[in-house]
Amino acid sequence: MDLNERVAGIPPSLTLAVDAKAKAMAAAGENICGFGAGEPDFDTPEHIKEAATKALREGKTKYAPNDGIMELRVAIADKLASENKLAYKPEQVLVSNGAKHSLFNIFMALCRDGDEVVIPAPYWLSYPEMVRVAGGKPVFVKGSDGSGLKITPAALKAAITPRSKVLVLNSPSNPTGTVYARAELAALAEVAVQHGLYIVSDEIYERMVYDGVEATSVGALSPEIFKRTITVNGFSKPYAMTGWRLGYFAGPLELVKACSALQSHSTSAPNTFAQYGGIAALRGPQDCVDRMVKAFDERRQYLHRRLTALRGLTCVRPTGAFYAFPNIAGTGLASLDFAARLLEQEKVAVVPGLPFGADDHVRFSYACSLANIEEGMNRLERFVKRLA
Ligand SMILES: *Cc1c(COP(=O)(O)O)cnc(C)c1O
Repeated sequence: MDLNERVAGIPPSLTLAVDAKAKAMAAAGENICGFGAGEPDFDTPEHIKEAATKALREGKTKYAPNDGIMELRVAIADKLASENKLAYKPEQVLVSNGAKHSLFNIFMALCRDGDEVVIPAPYWLSYPEMVRVAGGKPVFVKGSDGSGLKITPAALKAAITPRSKVLVLNSPSNPTGTVYARAELAALAEVAVQHGLYIVSDEIYERMVYDGVEATSVGALSPEIFKRTITVNGFSKPYAMTGWRLGYFAGPLELVKACSALQSHSTSAPNTFAQYGGIAALRGPQDCVDRMVKAFDERRQYLHRRLTALRGLTCVRPTGAFYAFPNIAGTGLASLDFAARLLEQEKVAVVPGLPFGADDHVRFSYACSLANIEEGMNRLERFVKRLA
């Protein structure tokens, strides 16, 4: 078939092979320890479900305004002002079908053909594919294990060319679980602003931070940085609302208007009654989030302790999100091989690092029970011992 070359060029997800196999094995009755989850294992808090149910019962079943219900945009602007010290007007907020959709709109609106988008690696696997579909060119800057899987201002500077247009930041990070300190972010943002880059800051994991570490909103660092920053966030991760498909970004009005027009001809507004759940999430009590974060923290500490006790593995201490991203180079296996053999021999499902731009790593999600982690680590220990 004669397909559009940008779409035809999207590779099928490399992670899918392992995931599909793990699911098939589980369906066939195998006892699988899964570490592949990219979403909280908790249910959406009751008061949020209640608000959406109420909206549904009241007949909030028609199209919402394209940019999102104004009450939700106001709630988002209030949240960004009070929690993130970001002074966006409600008109600068565009609500979409998940943060992923927001990111897609943004790259579509920002990228001219050949514009370069600087992406720190390891990266969330959707960024490069979205940039390519939009006609842009992803340029990767690698963070090493020695630097906590974070990039340095010098490395960023070295990657910048006259075609550079955007810097993507994702702190706390999927897949590495690392968090940039305020000063580290400021140094990166300074380089970006000096070179006239826009900063797309994906802050979806901001609430999941541990060890007293704080997540910083890069846009709050200075008025110059704020002007060039697009802040992306959503409901999926903090409120366990992945299936609701609700996210947003806030940024310069001109960009919001461009993305709004794009959205009006592609998806229209997100689900109407889901947006009422979103209002309840932002305006309601936040102890539900704290409880989830506390559970993640306990699992994180246990998982990291077990991972770092294994020969051939090293693991930067994750201080954010719900992932650990150990380096497996010492085992002599590349990530696809490691993941495939671990699944085959010990029925443990992990995500290979290759599609995240890190073939010497694998990703463990701890959005699963402590019992699952304990059993999975016992099996991993056996697996690694056999390799030695
Ligand atoms: C989960 C995730 C998102 C977006 O999720 P949505 O469900 O589309 O809101 C965005 N960025 C990263 C890094 C993620 O892990």
